[in-house]
Amino acid sequence: MMKDNNTPLIRQYLQIKDKYKDYILLYRMGDFYETFFEDAETTAHICNIILTKRNNGAAGDVPLAGFPYHQLDNYLPKLVNAGYRVAVCEQVEDPKKAKGIVRREVIEVVTPGVTLYDKLLSEKRNNYIASVYFHPRSDKNKTLGIAFCDVSTGEFNISEFQISQLTEIIEMLGIKEVVISKEQKILFENILRNLNNPILVTKLEPWIFDFTFAREALLGQLRTLNLKGFGIEELPLGIISAGALLHYINETQKLYLNQIQKISLFNPNEYMILDSATRRNLEIYFSWSNNIEGSLYSVLDETKTPMGSRLLKNWLARPLLNVEKINRRLEIVDYFYKNTNLVEKIRSILSEIGDLERLSAKVCSTKATPRELLVLKKSLDSIPYIQQLLENTGNEYLISLSKRFVNLNEISSLIEKAIDQNTNNSVGTGNVIRKGYSEEFDKILSLARNSKSHINKLQEEERRKTGIQSLKIGYNLVFGYYIEISKVNAGKVPSRYIRKQTLTNAERYTTPELREIEFKLKNIEEKLYNLETQLYQDVLLNIAKFISELQENSQIVAELDCLVSFAYLALKNHFCKPVVDNGTEIIIQNGRHPVVEKSLPIGEHYIPNSTKLSDKELIHIITGPNMSGKSCYLRQVALAVLLAQVGSFVAADSAKIGIVDRIFTRVGAQDDISRGESTFLIEMQESANILNNATKRSLILLDEVGRGTATFDGISIAWAITEYIHNNIQAKTLFATHYHELNELEAKYDKIVNYYIDVLEEGEKVIFTHKVKRGTSDHSFGIYVAEMAGLPKEVVQRAKDILEILEAGTTNPNEQVIFKVSKPNPKKIKSIENRLQFQQLAIFDFTDNDIRNKILDLDLNNITPLQALSLLEELQKQIKSS
Ligand code: ADP
Repeated sequence: MMKDNNTPLIRQYLQIKDKYKDYILLYRMGDFYETFFEDAETTAHICNIILTKRNNGAAGDVPLAGFPYHQLDNYLPKLVNAGYRVAVCEQVEDPKKAKGIVRREVIEVVTPGVTLYDKLLSEKRNNYIASVYFHPRSDKNKTLGIAFCDVSTGEFNISEFQISQLTEIIEMLGIKEVVISKEQKILFENILRNLNNPILVTKLEPWIFDFTFAREALLGQLRTLNLKGFGIEELPLGIISAGALLHYINETQKLYLNQIQKISLFNPNEYMILDSATRRNLEIYFSWSNNIEGSLYSVLDETKTPMGSRLLKNWLARPLLNVEKINRRLEIVDYFYKNTNLVEKIRSILSEIGDLERLSAKVCSTKATPRELLVLKKSLDSIPYIQQLLENTGNEYLISLSKRFVNLNEISSLIEKAIDQNTNNSVGTGNVIRKGYSEEFDKILSLARNSKSHINKLQEEERRKTGIQSLKIGYNLVFGYYIEISKVNAGKVPSRYIRKQTLTNAERYTTPELREIEFKLKNIEEKLYNLETQLYQDVLLNIAKFISELQENSQIVAELDCLVSFAYLALKNHFCKPVVDNGTEIIIQNGRHPVVEKSLPIGEHYIPNSTKLSDKELIHIITGPNMSGKSCYLRQVALAVLLAQVGSFVAADSAKIGIVDRIFTRVGAQDDISRGESTFLIEMQESANILNNATKRSLILLDEVGRGTATFDGISIAWAITEYIHNNIQAKTLFATHYHELNELEAKYDKIVNYYIDVLEEGEKVIFTHKVKRGTSDHSFGIYVAEMAGLPKEVVQRAKDILEILEAGTTNPNEQVIFKVSKPNPKKIKSIENRLQFQQLAIFDFTDNDIRNKILDLDLNNITPLQALSLLEELQKQIKSS
């Protein structure tokens, strides 16, 4: 056997690390958390702390990086945010009592998907972890089981769907970590590689993904005999995933996950699908520049509570398809919209409510602090006021919402009685439990306070006896209580003083009396610590019994918050209530883009536009120059549909929306350099996705499709795509394009209509009216935009000349005309080229030969920047004077 040269400490470290190989192990040593070996290198790098060495006896030095224990809140989130799992290993026995190395254990594990750390959670976002599994032998139609959970709120869902939908759903939910079986690693890693933002993939042993094991785990967690009540009995793959997920969370949390009380069936078919490209193109959560500001969410979020804000985010990710459900939301918003006073009142009460949902989950895992309990109480106390307001409305929806609230006075009065209003957060110091709650506690507390006053008395006495006014009694963890006397007074120290510790400027002593008081005090403090901790834990456990009710109340608060916020938004921004039905039309009167209208410069107003997409006018070809407002128009239509199906009012004078099952967007000219794919390839991939998945109920936005390639290719592809949608899919489509040639389609197909965005010419100037009109515009105005952008006059003039030539009769009457610009005729091209060459000479004619020669004569290798600058100045003067 190989000799183990490691020191006992490193040996213990390695034993623990062996169980937590995939984790960064934070190993508690006294007042520090230390990391060793590779972990030390990673930690030093991520946390920007110094990498040093620790002596490891005969085995040589080992890399070490550590930080003081009170910095855990600071460094742990950094490691987890960098995508690592972290295991926190504590000393679990008193070092003074330990024989040999102090016993240590991992007491907590934190991963990106499993955490209750405030610093790792965003108030406005759920923190989901998922587990996925497919049956190894079902490779034909690859059904996938998925379970996902937010440990910080207790939400737990299960589903089954096609494996091809996985990335879409992970992105839709914003999942942070995925748990898979080691056996299915290759398949999943290949799929997950396509995610826009990489996530942590945790691989578990295959035996964990076993149906019987999983079902037992679920039944145990939910404390039921079967799963029928949850409607998930028929989802074997989902159950396997759920069991594996519970196993992983239980392992990592080391606690019973009381906050997970129920499991809900998540059916992706109940929601409108928005793929990641569409979420990006519509700037739902982030603007193009990747800021929250400028996104739809930023304009929409008028919620007052963290649960409301999170729910709004989820609603936006999952617009509804069911007309009744949508109308139920709309009716409530409408009631609030018409009762502004009520909106104000409810909003002001909501702002008193804290994160009821996460606080409840924290109570369950006994992580809630005393102050958080006070917030919980304050939040619960606000609910009856809301209930009263809702009941007074007489509105059936609001009354039924109010009736769903569960009365939790019991919790509120428990917190009232048990927790001191002025508590600090340190349980065990006698500052948490309120006077009068427990007789025994009060007795011990007064004893402890008395003993403390004995110390003060003793200090006074000793000062008097020794005549040393600066004498003081202090305390530290290692030496306990001591009498400190500065060196100056060393001569006055009585002989009964027993020396304890020597400092540079002072000596520390004890006396038999001090020892006696210390002993008593220590006993009492220990009792106080134990009793207060026990009482506090009991309070938490008593509250945790109501976890389901707490969760239900937070859910209602969240819903109410979203609906009231929609009403507030509609009032503030002049939105209207849409009519949502199962029809096939989208009719919008004077629609606006809800985000762009907020960001226009002062004095400018968003120009509203109306839209009618129907079976007869199924595909709109919209032409117009750059900057005329095509993209804004397309997006405003999509956003109106999205908002309506979320249950919100929309930015328009009126809107009638027939349910849309999916919004597809293909927006040109957005290069994805980071993935190393060409613009055109991505454009075509996204277009393929649309053509393969759109249905008659979908809404398709195509913005400049075909632009990423040569003109003729582009036109042909755009043309063919439009025909395919018309003939095969029949989805409502808005196609914004530069290619005026596509206007020809209107004459060929009865469901295609032309629109253009009107632009006015005033002399040499162009005025963007941003008005969408029926018909076609005559030219593209691209050159005017170039001029506006400050391109040199010569270039603009030259472009105008070329345009004139190109526009002059390029149609060949003998060929079958599909494009106005027909296949180029070699003779014609030659003649254009000749003319261009001739003009090219003319352009260069303007150049002053003298200036030209001066530039040509320059010896660029030997000129200083200063000389270059002064030459430039000279040339400029010369041009100006010519
Ligand atoms: P295009 O897609 O035609 O190039 P955009 O839709 O990007 O043009 O619009 C260009 C700019 O014009 C927008 O950033 C916005 O500031 C302004 N704009 C667009 N539509 C409108 C409108 N309806 N009313 C007012 N300003 C608008």
